[in-house]
Amino acid sequence: MKVLTIIGARPQFIKAAVVSRAFKEHRPDVREIIVHTGQHYDANMSEVFFSELEIPKPDYNLGVGGGTHGQNTGRMIEKLEDLMMEIRPQWVLVYGDTDSTLAGALAAAKLHIPVAHVEAGLRSFNRRMPEEINRVLTDHIAEILFVPSASGRKNLISEGFSEAKIKMVGDVMYDASLFYKDKARKPKLPAELDISGNGFILCTIHRAENTDDPHRLTNIFQGLAASGKSIILPLHPRTLRKIVEHGIDTPQNVWVIDPVGYLEMVWLEANCRLIATDSGGVQKEAYFFGKPCVIMRDQTEWVELVEAGWNRLVGADPDLIASSINKSFEPEVCKPIYGTGQSAQLVVNLLCQ
Ligand code: UDP
Repeated sequence: MKVLTIIGARPQFIKAAVVSRAFKEHRPDVREIIVHTGQHYDANMSEVFFSELEIPKPDYNLGVGGGTHGQNTGRMIEKLEDLMMEIRPQWVLVYGDTDSTLAGALAAAKLHIPVAHVEAGLRSFNRRMPEEINRVLTDHIAEILFVPSASGRKNLISEGFSEAKIKMVGDVMYDASLFYKDKARKPKLPAELDISGNGFILCTIHRAENTDDPHRLTNIFQGLAASGKSIILPLHPRTLRKIVEHGIDTPQNVWVIDPVGYLEMVWLEANCRLIATDSGGVQKEAYFFGKPCVIMRDQTEWVELVEAGWNRLVGADPDLIASSINKSFEPEVCKPIYGTGQSAQLVVNLLCQ
């Protein structure tokens, strides 16, 4: 059996790493062919993940990146269609909610190749987010919907999906955090930054709704400044471009570093006091590592964590950001929300049935 895996962005490399390992361990008879669309192309947003997570080198790199959503999606579909016609896989496996996800799903569906979607069923209910459009359309194309938690299943049922297509497998990112946590590595931090006393806050910002709106981005930095805490910010290249474009100054208590590899990110998550983020993956990793999390967005797809008091939604309000970072944290103890760390194996078993 041939499975064509399509990935292109940082979180997809992490998700695919654990599923690729599960293919090798549990179904060595399956030939997994990996296509990197090229959506993320900087070495610290792409290459580092392949080397340190031991993901097999992509069989193909389409070199599509740097354009608009429409340009990227269109170019990817064109190249993926050629590849799929040549390879004729039994399944196309796509992850998450990026342009690479949608392009893979569309190209496969038109060639009548079944699509399996890992991280299906998530909804922010905000159609202005490119990710929301990608995930809704991909779910409607997919034959198997691998759902990470109960809310994903509920969303799909309310959109009319049949139970037969929905497979609750848990979250492959939880598998990744368990597998890699012992391999975590301290990144190189600025020499002047002293994290020995009060520790540090870890921050990430990259969501278009924040980066593309100079007012929101300025407010976020104001909130981080007002918190008065030492904040480490591994800066996404898109956010860096926008900060330069809009002439926004980063506050003195925010220590900007280059994006780090996953093993270094896990170290930061495991050793910080609190996480402030607009990332989907990072807000769950906060919970995996038992850290309070302040979500600098107006909605989240990972609603269970907000309901249980693990995560707080604060938007881009500077006062709320500052006060939430400084507030005490009393989450409910709840039963595991995202599976037991066996999600990748479940994905592989169900796909190969
Ligand atoms: N991540 C990383 N290095 C960084 C920032 C994030 O390895 O400098 C990891 C993070 O641990 C998580 C994933 O990238 O596993 C999340 O990706 P991102 O925030 O880019 O995307 P999202 O999850 O919001 O789609």
